[in-house]
Amino acid sequence: MAEKDEKSASGALHWRTRLIASAPPVPDGFHSLAPAVHRGSTVVFDRLRDAVDDWRQSERYTYGLYGTPTTLELAARIAALERAHHCFVAPGGQAALALAFLAYCRAGSHVLIPESAYGPTTELGEDLLAGLGIDVERYDPLIGGGIDALIRPETALVWCESPGSITMEVQDVPAIVAASHARGVSVGLDNTYAAGVLFDAFSHGVDVSVQALTKYVGGHSDLLLGTVSVRDEAACARVGRAHRLLGMAVSPDDCALALRGLQTLGVRLAHLEQSTLIVARWLAERPEVANVLHPALPGCPGHSVWARDFTGSASVFSIVFGEDWNAARTTRFVDALRLFKIGFSWGGVTSLVMAYLDSSRLGARRERLVRLNIGLEEPADLIDDLGRSLGCAD
Ligand SMILES: *Cc1c(COP(=O)(O)O)cnc(C)c1O
Repeated sequence: MAEKDEKSASGALHWRTRLIASAPPVPDGFHSLAPAVHRGSTVVFDRLRDAVDDWRQSERYTYGLYGTPTTLELAARIAALERAHHCFVAPGGQAALALAFLAYCRAGSHVLIPESAYGPTTELGEDLLAGLGIDVERYDPLIGGGIDALIRPETALVWCESPGSITMEVQDVPAIVAASHARGVSVGLDNTYAAGVLFDAFSHGVDVSVQALTKYVGGHSDLLLGTVSVRDEAACARVGRAHRLLGMAVSPDDCALALRGLQTLGVRLAHLEQSTLIVARWLAERPEVANVLHPALPGCPGHSVWARDFTGSASVFSIVFGEDWNAARTTRFVDALRLFKIGFSWGGVTSLVMAYLDSSRLGARRERLVRLNIGLEEPADLIDDLGRSLGCAD
């Protein structure tokens, strides 16, 4: 090929250069209802003096790691939903938790984590944070204002998760906030159960609210994302710095899926609440079931706090079988289910079941406790599945 034949008639650029040097047009007059997916690592500047490396990105874009229009749109939408000062998006709920802890803790810090916390939160504390010289202490999730007795001069963060994972204790977050703030200590909350809406973290005084968008905002079991939302400028500066230094990149494609999930979050939550209550109340009447750990039912620890502080309940809850149940019966029950799929996570459209036979945290209940997530199937069909499987467990 003769290279000079390939120069364009209109200019001096070689076709191989033109492959690179195209400038995709910003569409004018195309008003779609769907948010655009803006991908990008490098962001180009018109002049050198515009190339300012500012993680806040409030005015302009600097680098894809710190936000594209799509990732920042998701952050802004979550901040608005939670009425937060600012929101940072992380690659998953667990990444968001790590971000929150690393933003607040340094070697020598003391941090309080509830015994009911999401398993990987506890592991993060007892493994990674402990290895960094951070003193992680676990506390009774129902401690309320009694947290005061555990706060030390070096306490950097009081963590809450309400309701707790698997055991569903609803925490008295306002009492914990009051006691912690009186001692000048910030409070963080894993607010995933509430989808950022069923419990108003910031009006209840929380400083940092974490959500696994993987659950209700994504809503379809097809993405992993998390958020850290902050109440004020002080928390924003701390979390923002750590977010940048940890390089918590998120995919604009996943963010676009989360933005789509937000459109149906309201109808899904309302429907899931009703279906879940139908199934939970049916289970509460069953002779095999000793207790239903659902925040809206009286048998759940902290139920009255839920009634005071929450505007609704979600789709995940646990059941505890009677004393006569053991690991073998629980296994037969779980394996017999057909509509309930055996799987981790929750908040999607499919009903899920999980048992925790080896969990030391559950103590004597571990062989008798099963967690359920109710999906969008018809509750009557789910009840049939549960009834048939209870019969198979003997
Ligand atoms: C699932 C979950 C997380 C972690 O979210 P991932 O996106 O799966 O990392 C954190 N907290 C709670 C309460 C969860 O249920």
